[in-house]
Amino acid sequence: MTSSPLLTVRNLSRSFGKLKAVDNISFQLERGKVIGLIGANGAGKTTTMRMLATLDFPDSGEIIINGTNAVDYPEKVRSLIGWMPDAFVPYKNTSVLEYIDFFARAYDIPSDKIGNALEDVINFTELGSLLDRMVDKLSKGQTQRLCLARTLISKPELLILDEPAAGLDPKARLEFKNLVHLLKDMGKTILISSHILSELGEMCDSLIFMDAGTIIHDGNKEDLLHTHDEQSGWPFEIELADADTDKLSMWLSLRPGWKFREQRKKGALASFHSNSPDAIAAELREMVKDIPVCGFRQCERRLEEAFVDILKQQPATEAAMLSTPSEVQTNTPPSSAI
Ligand code: ATP
Repeated sequence: MTSSPLLTVRNLSRSFGKLKAVDNISFQLERGKVIGLIGANGAGKTTTMRMLATLDFPDSGEIIINGTNAVDYPEKVRSLIGWMPDAFVPYKNTSVLEYIDFFARAYDIPSDKIGNALEDVINFTELGSLLDRMVDKLSKGQTQRLCLARTLISKPELLILDEPAAGLDPKARLEFKNLVHLLKDMGKTILISSHILSELGEMCDSLIFMDAGTIIHDGNKEDLLHTHDEQSGWPFEIELADADTDKLSMWLSLRPGWKFREQRKKGALASFHSNSPDAIAAELREMVKDIPVCGFRQCERRLEEAFVDILKQQPATEAAMLSTPSEVQTNTPPSSAI
């Protein structure tokens, strides 16, 4: 039983009027793993997560949490779920301690255990020095830690975190990332959404890409980094002992199988159609006859490239028009990235 997935989603759909916000998706969350849910604005991440958190009902499909059908018996699985929404509505005239204490009581934690439960989450989220602060006076990073404290108070096994690091500055983002690592070490299963790929990739064991309500990729990160785009080929970084990149680009353009991609400070990024070690060795032997190569290495693809390639393979849909790939942030802006 313990090795079965903690969560299984089968053929889940949810529409709002004519819009299929979530369109027949299926996936599983293995216990103890961190899974990233990535998609542009409007891709269907929040709608999916709200259904998993039993806050909304699907039109069709199944959600099985720890063996229980969460659609039919939501009250049986709620104690397993920690839900952290993307929007925080601050309570007026409520201190940090009162806020967490309120949620502890709402979760029916017995009064003789509340003290320890509060201490645990306050220590974990480092809110000890802010207990008397009014919750509507907290910074964004402090607010996110408060939300996390509230999410953890009932010791849930499954954490569903919707855009938890949106709007955080780089330091708070790093702190949040560290908290996610610690939660993983504690054995939590974590589904975390974002429309920013770069650092979410670092945190997660596997990634689910959503677009226009559907899942367009579900798998581990390494597979994505080591796949290649059929059209572009496998990327290589070539470093030169001199600055004659023109000669290199000419060589590449004349040599079958090579494509010059971009100039680098001391060389170029190029792609080759094959990943076979023998073929690459043969190319390198030829290259060094003509070009002063002093560095040559195969590059990992960036997650952003993999995501865009997968998106390009999708047929255009009405919903896709509403959530264009360009809305996925592929680099890390200081104020809103994970
Ligand atoms: P974001 O990154 O912007 O939070 P998302 O991937 O979480 O986006 P959802 O919030 O799940 O996307 O929305 C998916 C689609 O469903 C969007 O087009 C949205 O406008 C629509 N939608 C979501 N909730 C409702 C609702 N209650 N009523 C009508 N349409 C809705």
